[in-house]
Amino acid sequence: MKSVGFSTRAVHAGQKPDPSTGAIMTPVYLTSTYVQESPGVHKGFEYSRTLHPTRKALEENLAALEGGDYGLCFSSGMAAISAVISALSAGDHVVSGNDLYGGTYRVFTKIFERFGISFSFVDTTDAEAVSKAITPQTKLLWLETPTNPLLNITDIAEISRLAHARGIPVAVDNTFATPYLQTPLSLGADMVVHSTTKYLGGHSDVVGGAVITSDKGWHDRLKFIQNAAGAVPGAMDCFLLLRGTKTLSLRMERHSLNAMRVAEFLTAHAAVAKVYYPGLSKHPGHAIAKKQMRSFGGMISFELKSGLDAAKKMASQTKIFSLAESLGGVESLIGHPATMTHAAIPREERLKRGLSDGLIRLSVGIEDADDLCQDLEQAINNQG
Ligand code: PLP
Repeated sequence: MKSVGFSTRAVHAGQKPDPSTGAIMTPVYLTSTYVQESPGVHKGFEYSRTLHPTRKALEENLAALEGGDYGLCFSSGMAAISAVISALSAGDHVVSGNDLYGGTYRVFTKIFERFGISFSFVDTTDAEAVSKAITPQTKLLWLETPTNPLLNITDIAEISRLAHARGIPVAVDNTFATPYLQTPLSLGADMVVHSTTKYLGGHSDVVGGAVITSDKGWHDRLKFIQNAAGAVPGAMDCFLLLRGTKTLSLRMERHSLNAMRVAEFLTAHAAVAKVYYPGLSKHPGHAIAKKQMRSFGGMISFELKSGLDAAKKMASQTKIFSLAESLGGVESLIGHPATMTHAAIPREERLKRGLSDGLIRLSVGIEDADDLCQDLEQAINNQG
């Protein structure tokens, strides 16, 4: 399926009509086990933690979208991230971006550090800083781009070249961009990680994760961990994700258009101090984003001039944007990272990385852009 376009792959990859009925949609196989003709003689499926037909279809679909040879699905984005780090050993070191999802920081520092894996958090937009952080023990480079929540852009090709020159594999959390906007494997990364909960699902009705790679060694290790640790998604979740990816290209086009409109509206607003959106020409990562992304996605962060209390008040005043964690659904969400998605990062650490107490994050949905701008306008005006 690699030779056809993205939207064709999204609709068809991994999915064939069910041979026994002709059902065009991949069935939700609600089964934990499979009958064998005689011991060891079966149709390829033995037990659903190990291999499951609806999950297999989703894994093939996601691999095709990222342009990878192998896909593996997990019960959440955190389970996917944990599987990758579980492939390392005590004594190993990871160089990670310093602006990343709070839960990723939490699992690195609160769980994996206890097992003897160490992490250095650096600004991955600065190749020299990345280079300096590498030690003889470094076994993985971990990137998010665009980052959550500051929308920083790392040059995936440049950092991958730098890491490979030192024999270090690169994993990219591609949750914010999705494979429609950016394919890290084609830029030199070794692994792509997703919270499929977000844009891939697209409808805020499923929690899941995935890792895609073309590296057989990594795939085999991660497949072993998927089965051995067992954080696999259920059949219904896989079905919902397969339905979600079919419309990914259409949704991402609209998310990107709407976000650009909202970012321009916020930039022009007298009450707004700063807007973080890679689609804006003044964003420091704009040129790299333009080079490695098809468009700039649906996530925006911004700060109000009037600070923390006003930000919290504003975030509770919107009528179309719902105040909620998460992102990537068709509906617009507004969040306050310091108390919500990034509360797991100690305040001092957050401030050091530029994540202020007053920062507001938007997941811009696919509603009408005029309505979204009007909603933000009334919420900004009603804050005080
Ligand atoms: N990676 C990013 C960039 C995220 O934003 C999130 C969740 O918000 C995760 C990973 C974790 O995914 P999940 O919530 O599906 O476990």
